[in-house]
Amino acid sequence: MKLYNTLSKQKEEFVPLVQGKVSMYVCGPTVYNFIHIGNARPMIVFDTARRYMEHKGYEVNYVSNFTDVDDKIIAKAIEEGVSSQEISERYIKECKQDMADMNVKPATTHPLATQEIGGMVDMISTLIDKGFAYNVNGTVYFRTRKFDEYGKLSHKNLDDLRSGSRSLLVSGENQKEDPLDFVLWKPKKEGEPFWVSPWSEGRPGWHIECSVMSKKYLGEEIDIHAGGEDLIFPHHENEIAQSECCNGKIFARYWLHNAFLNIDNRKMSKSLGNFFTVREIKEKYDLQVLRFFMLSAHYRSPLNFSAELMEASKNGLERVINAVDNLKYLEKNAAAEQLKEEEKAMLEEAAAYTSKFDEAMDDDLNTADAVSVIFELVKFANTTVSADNSKAAIRAVREEILELGDILGLILEKKAEVLDEDIEKLIADRQAARKAKDFARADEIRGRLLDLGIELLDTREGVKWKRV
Ligand code: AMP
Ligand code: ZN
Repeated sequence: MKLYNTLSKQKEEFVPLVQGKVSMYVCGPTVYNFIHIGNARPMIVFDTARRYMEHKGYEVNYVSNFTDVDDKIIAKAIEEGVSSQEISERYIKECKQDMADMNVKPATTHPLATQEIGGMVDMISTLIDKGFAYNVNGTVYFRTRKFDEYGKLSHKNLDDLRSGSRSLLVSGENQKEDPLDFVLWKPKKEGEPFWVSPWSEGRPGWHIECSVMSKKYLGEEIDIHAGGEDLIFPHHENEIAQSECCNGKIFARYWLHNAFLNIDNRKMSKSLGNFFTVREIKEKYDLQVLRFFMLSAHYRSPLNFSAELMEASKNGLERVINAVDNLKYLEKNAAAEQLKEEEKAMLEEAAAYTSKFDEAMDDDLNTADAVSVIFELVKFANTTVSADNSKAAIRAVREEILELGDILGLILEKKAEVLDEDIEKLIADRQAARKAKDFARADEIRGRLLDLGIELLDTREGVKWKRV
C-alpha cells in the first residue's frame, strides 16, 4: 500500500514499525459546539483508512483526542454561565453521536486533554532540562532555533516566516526569544480553569497535548499521524519539534493530511460562519449519504459542498442499495442452490472488481476510484445476474458488493421496514419527553425516527409523520 507522506511530499510504500500492526493518531476536534461537516471529513477519511488497513489484516491502534480545554470552550462557558467542563462534556457526547451516525468507528482510545495534564508537565520539564524550552514569567516557550529540523514537515522557509512575524512581536509577545517560538504552558487569566505547575498556575498550549497523548497511548515512535491540512503548520510542525526533542526519536513516520471541504470554493469553517453542522445535514439526509459524498473524492483533493452533489450522492447510494436488494430478491427466487460449473467464470469476473478496488485503495487510499469500482460491479450485477443463476452465485455477488461497501464504512443493505405502530410509540415517547422538558431526549427520538426514514411534522393538529 502506498501513502502520500507530507514529510517527503511523495507517495511511499507503507511499512509499519511492527509487522502486522499500525499505530495511528488523528487530531480530533475542539469541543465547544456541534461539529461541522468540514470536521467530519478527516473523521470519515481516516476511519476509512483504518477500515482498509484492518481489511488488509493489520491490527490498528487508533487514537483520536478531544481538545477539551481551549479559549473557545471557555468563551462559550462564560456565554452560557456554566463550567467549561459542562460545555466540553456536552459536545463530546454530541460528537460521538454524529460519529456513530456517520458510521465512524470509535477510536481505540479517545483521550481528553484535561485528563493528561501530568504528562504534559513532565514533557515540558524534560524540554526545559534539555534546553529546548524556557520559562518567562510563568509562560513556557519552545525554543525553535534549537531544533535544526524545525520546518521539515511544512517545507516552509523559516527566514521568511521569521521576518514576516517579527511585527507580531511588538506588543505582548516580546518575551519570546524568536518569533517562531510557541507556547507550551501559559498562566491562567481570572476565572479560567487552571492546573498547578512548576512555572505558574495555568494550562498547557494546544500543541503539547497531542505529543503527550500520542506518546502515552501509542509510544514514542508511531506509524501514522493525520489531520486536516490546516494542521500542518504550525500544529504538526510543533508536535514534531516537541516530541523529537523530548524523546530523541522520529515521532511519526507517515504524515497524512486531508484537503478542505469548501463551500462556494472557500474553506468551510466556524470562524467564517459558512458551515453546516453534521446535525443539520442529518435533518435532510441519512448520514450515509454524507459519507458517500466525502468518499467520492480523493482525500487530498479539495471538495466543494453543494446541494446538487449531495443529491447526486443520494441517488448514487440508492442505486447501489437497490442493486443489493434486487440480488437478495433474485436469490430468494432462484431455483438452484449450488454453484453451477458455468457460473465460475462469472464469479471470477466479479472477483476482478475486488482486485481493482484494492488497487485503488492501495494507491494512497483512492476512494474516488474505489467508489467507481463499486458502481462498475453494480452495473455488472444488474446486467449479468438473474434468477436463472444459482443461489450460491447470486449470494457471492451480493456479498462482494456488501464487503466493498463495508471497507468504506457504507451500509448497503436496505433498512428493515418500520411498522406504523412502532412509529406511533416513538412519537408518544417524544411527546412525553417534551412535556417533561427533556428536549435532548425528544431530539434524540426525532433523530432516531429520521434514521428509520420517518420525518416528523409538528402541526397545529398535532404531530404528523411521513416516510422520506
Ligand atoms: P478543529 O476543531 O478546528 O481543530 O478541527 C478538527 C479537525 O477538522 C482538524 O483535523 C481540521 O483540520 C479539520 N477541519 C476543519 N475544517 C475543515 C474543513 N473545512 N475541511 C476539512 N477538514 C477540516
Ligand atoms: Zn494534534
